[in-house]
Amino acid sequence: MYHIGSLEKISRLINDYNICPFCLARLLYERNKGFLKFLKKLHAELVSKKLYSFNRNEPCYLCNGIMPALPKTIHEIESKLESYNFKSFSFGTKIPEILYAREDFIRSKYSMSSGLSLKSYLNYMVSNYLSRKLGKVIDINRPDLRIVYDFGNALLEITPSSVYIYGRYLKLKRGVRQTKQFCRLCYGLGCKACNYRGYTDDPSIEGYILDLFRDEFFGEASVLHAAGREDIDVVTLNTGRPFVIEVKRPLKRSVDLMKIQDVLNSRNKGVVELKGLRYVDREIMEKINVFSKYDEKSYRLVVKFHNEIDQLMLEKIEKELSNRVIAQRTPLRVIYRRADKIRYKTVYSLSSKLLDKQTVEFIIRCQGGLYIKELAHGDQGRTNPSIFSISKIPLEVISLDVISVAPELEKRLGLD
Ligand SMILES: [Zn+2]
Ligand SMILES: [Zn+2]
Repeated sequence: MYHIGSLEKISRLINDYNICPFCLARLLYERNKGFLKFLKKLHAELVSKKLYSFNRNEPCYLCNGIMPALPKTIHEIESKLESYNFKSFSFGTKIPEILYAREDFIRSKYSMSSGLSLKSYLNYMVSNYLSRKLGKVIDINRPDLRIVYDFGNALLEITPSSVYIYGRYLKLKRGVRQTKQFCRLCYGLGCKACNYRGYTDDPSIEGYILDLFRDEFFGEASVLHAAGREDIDVVTLNTGRPFVIEVKRPLKRSVDLMKIQDVLNSRNKGVVELKGLRYVDREIMEKINVFSKYDEKSYRLVVKFHNEIDQLMLEKIEKELSNRVIAQRTPLRVIYRRADKIRYKTVYSLSSKLLDKQTVEFIIRCQGGLYIKELAHGDQGRTNPSIFSISKIPLEVISLDVISVAPELEKRLGLD
């Protein structure tokens, strides 16, 4: 039944070393047969011919007791998994170095190249058992849970992979940041002044929405990955701004997203509104950063000129700035955190409406990444052309609203 070596070779091995029946079977195992059937047959044959006995009071030379204790170990893993919500998993093992060395030694001494190594045997047996018993899928590449058992130290590590949720947010009120601000005293470490939270109380999109996601998924943390950001004094309306929320190490993986959306929207009425929440894969997060950088955005800009402005001049501004590539050197107000260089961005269309003799509303549709306030005042000539460079009338920005961000993004991501 086993063709490798002879019975004589096997009997030398089991005479010289205390080898448990499981290790013996995996050394001799031919992969095309059912392992348990093979184990039974082999055992019966060797035992009935009185060729083999295993001293249970001594640990097995090859597995140091791992194999005989495996049912107990599996049971322990199983009970720890009860608190996790998952559909797929991967299982891996850590084994003491000495056991690798012993197996190499035995395999070369008795010239045995067949069978399964201790590690692959354990991985195979445990994953298949758990998969059958719990009805979960084994997925090496993208599992919901990564399970690693360290047999040397009897340590179980369970790492749930992040859950990703796509959606859009509307920012309805000025004076709200996108990101939480670190406490100015401790820079995030936590101190008395910030009540050991590490953050200030300044209103932010993150502050309004993130905690509920973390809590509902029983996660360790939640992170906002937004497609760009608006200034604190800018609102984002209509389409809203795309984002992905990542919940790290969640115990739960399927939560009713519409419920979260409703709770947050009624709690933050008039400030932040979420829409279109849905589960996505990790890749979407990387894609929205790339796409949204170049995707179309629309703004409503209200500007007050220091002198009266007439319809003729407005028509000139519309004509000169529509379908126009703008050369924009890094704005002075952000130069402390961004490289100083010239970017070329296109304004697709610009239309204007006189609100009073000096106040004008512009609707601007442009390529993502164009700084709009600078398109208005010209940033001391660093943005060219600009509304100021054409009108020659000094002006100030009264308000800026984002009225659409990458309206086609869901279609391009294949989410619709
Ligand atoms: Zn063993
Ligand atoms: Zn602090």
